[in-house]
Amino acid sequence: MRIAIISTYTHPSRLHRKERSIMQSSVPELIAALCPPGAEIELYNEKEADIPLDRDWDLVFFSYLHAYYEHTKVLSTLFRRRGITTVAGGRHASHFRADALRHFDAVIAGDPESNVPALLADFQRRALEPVYALPPVPPDQIPTYRYDLIDYRNNIVRLPGIEASRGCPFSCNFCVLTGHEQYRYRPIDHVIRDIRERMTFNQRIPGVTGDTFAFLDNNLGGSPRYLRELCEALMPLKKIWGCALTFNVLRDPELVRLMGRAGCRYVYTGLESLNPESISAMNKGQNKLSEVREVLTRASASGIVLSFGLLVGSDGDTGEYLERVPEYLHELGDHCPTFLGIVCPYPETPFFAQVAAEGRLLPGVTSRDLDGYTLCHRPARMDPSEVVEHFERLSRALGSLPSVGRHLWGRLMTSDLPRYKACVVMSAPEVLSLRAPLANRSRTYVAGRDPIEA
Ligand code: SF4
Repeated sequence: MRIAIISTYTHPSRLHRKERSIMQSSVPELIAALCPPGAEIELYNEKEADIPLDRDWDLVFFSYLHAYYEHTKVLSTLFRRRGITTVAGGRHASHFRADALRHFDAVIAGDPESNVPALLADFQRRALEPVYALPPVPPDQIPTYRYDLIDYRNNIVRLPGIEASRGCPFSCNFCVLTGHEQYRYRPIDHVIRDIRERMTFNQRIPGVTGDTFAFLDNNLGGSPRYLRELCEALMPLKKIWGCALTFNVLRDPELVRLMGRAGCRYVYTGLESLNPESISAMNKGQNKLSEVREVLTRASASGIVLSFGLLVGSDGDTGEYLERVPEYLHELGDHCPTFLGIVCPYPETPFFAQVAAEGRLLPGVTSRDLDGYTLCHRPARMDPSEVVEHFERLSRALGSLPSVGRHLWGRLMTSDLPRYKACVVMSAPEVLSLRAPLANRSRTYVAGRDPIEA
């Protein structure tokens, strides 16, 4: 059986561009681990390389985010015309399974661990069902990824990924996890075994990437007790790692120092806003704005590059707040976000239910607009055009060379822990990438108005 597992992608500018960044989806490596031993498996990540259209596969698994749906449908259609069976998986396919079944032969609506083996068994006996929606397996049955299939030649900075947990105990109103994914974590000895014995590291930048990996969890700190035990277990491995976690964890000085000693050099946290009304509108009460400066300073001093994201267009935003964002960041010590987006009403979220019920969805919203860079709703206190103006202005200002300079200057000398300075330098392209969505001058960032891809 010849199987391709494809993670699809379209650039936020909607131009034909790649995004060869440090963190990449590991869904292909996970699905590969669930395939039978004799299968011939090829993995493709469209963020890094184009998908070949002329290969002879029996079965293709597609993994995609909401915004890549239209593009993925086209790929599926091309493969099906050549007699290849296609399968769609992920949150979008689960939510819009009836529509997906018009363009794919089957849909996986749930976690891969239970559903992929069931689908493959049916495929082999020519009895494919349209929908596979078995419940998740316990976290101790999450398999080791097929690290041996990662092709680092496509991306010099890519790091291998691993999951220690899934889900998140919080309930931010715009988050696709809210109400859909129970928080759970793997046994620590499984995680340590995978890192120590199974992980294949990227040796392309000697002395920098060769012993470095990323936790792909949405919130590695969902249980601070678990995170503490994980850090203790990681310490003897002497690896360098990064993760995403929530602000409440960063308020604990002892835990942050422990993370630094355990090799953590990079943390991403969704700060989302510096405006209390916006935080409240997003139901993100775990972010204590009065402590942001202290938290940022503490992380840098503990050898951790703390990277954060901001969103515009929330119901608490006002023109006055967005105008003053650079000033607020200056007051925080010139820390710069590494992600700037427009808050998105993903269809499975409480935020979508609210704006839809209030008649505030903009006309013509399609899946491609659900990319986090396109305004899909009418915010409560601002005109859509005003939000987009601020988004463009902030993307340019914060993704500028002076901004990168301030980012480096403010952090480089704060810790002497091994590889901290290299991680600070490697985070600089993230700041510059804030301008990336603006690369297409014909983009309006308003739903229903932009071309799908140039
Ligand atoms: S804290 Fe992050 S992962 Fe958790 S619900 Fe909020 S946005 Fe989602």
